[in-house]
Amino acid sequence: MAQPSHTLQLPSDQTEADHQRSPYDYDAAVIGAGPAGLSAALVLGTARRRVLLLDGGPPRNAAAQAAHGVFTRDGADPLSLKAEGLRQLEPYDVTVEQGAARQVRLAEDGFVVRLAVGEVRVRRLLLATGLEDLLPAVNGLRERWGESVHHCPYCDGWPNREAQLAVLGSHQEGHHLALSMRAWTDHLTLLTNGPDELTAEQRRDLQRLDIALDTRPILRLSDAGRADLARVHFRDGDTLDLEAVFLNPQQRQRSNLPHRLGLQLDDKGRVQVNEHGMTSLRGIWAAGDMTGAPQYVMSAAAAGQVAAVSLNATLIHEDVHGYGAAFHESPESEDKGAEL
Ligand SMILES: Cc1cc2nc3c(=O)[nH]c(=O)nc-3n(C[C@H](O)[C@H](O)[C@H](O)COP(=O)(O)OP(=O)(O)OC[C@H]3O[C@@H](n4cnc5c(N)ncnc54)[C@H](O)[C@@H]3O)c2cc1C
Repeated sequence: MAQPSHTLQLPSDQTEADHQRSPYDYDAAVIGAGPAGLSAALVLGTARRRVLLLDGGPPRNAAAQAAHGVFTRDGADPLSLKAEGLRQLEPYDVTVEQGAARQVRLAEDGFVVRLAVGEVRVRRLLLATGLEDLLPAVNGLRERWGESVHHCPYCDGWPNREAQLAVLGSHQEGHHLALSMRAWTDHLTLLTNGPDELTAEQRRDLQRLDIALDTRPILRLSDAGRADLARVHFRDGDTLDLEAVFLNPQQRQRSNLPHRLGLQLDDKGRVQVNEHGMTSLRGIWAAGDMTGAPQYVMSAAAAGQVAAVSLNATLIHEDVHGYGAAFHESPESEDKGAEL
């Protein structure tokens, strides 16, 4: 993994001249070094901004062997994508700090970010802290997450095309995912793990598409002696060998910062942003999975870029304005700031 390219600048490290020049340690703090945060930090770096990137740990797809559907890097190891993303920040004034942002406080015209090693003052904040997957409580399932248990057809459908597959889910979402997965295989079972909430019409859909329905309660999953296989052990003692199981997990914010900052969330708990990635709080942008955006590496990286450009436009506006010059309307101007 690439090492931080610059040394973290704490207020005590700064000279008097630094302080007189700017009351801030960084132009922007990017919190989270997944695809969205890395992409945002890159864009801000190329814009000659002084950036602090907080790397709180592995990206969401760290359990996967390969990331699919990633333009020019299809099939790359997710951790190598991250390492490359960090390496490409090296030419720029981007400081990468390992560890989580513990707290953020609103300050006059900026924010104070608390880290394990101290506090820094930043002009703008870009959150890219991602989501956490809440997997069903089936023994042995978590251990197979990213190996033979998946959630996303576009990520893991191709390696499992025409394979013996199951979808695990007992209601609307299981039905929806099962119908989708028929595009990748003819050999599909919907496992409901006990009583289901399927309607008569949904059952007919399964029959029409030749999707088997198995409602038996599941005891556990094992690997049948091969890491790339999933053996379903039913409570009645029977087993079913599969090449992969797909499911649609519940999710929640990986970080409590959006709640603590009081950002506006949608009914699924995602941070609400406008088309520039602006949140409901002036000076804070959010990008990637943590917003309602499509959950893919490329989408997260693209959202990080859009948010970074918007954030930088407000800095340009502020700086130009400071010299008494006129600039086109800031994306952060009164009526646009919190428009969602
Ligand atoms: C098993 C699996 C396989 C997948 N496969 C694919 C695939 O093949 N192709 C594809 O396109 N997509 C895939 N995805 C989806 C993809 O991983 C996500 O869409 C993408 O990682 C989202 O990027 P992100 O930057 O928004 O969030 P994340 O990747 O979740 O990154 C968020 C980062 O923020 C950090 N963080 C959280 N809180 C803090 C804090 N307080 N301070 C500092 N850092 C913090 C986290 O540690 C994490 O590193 C997969 C997902 C999973 C779960």
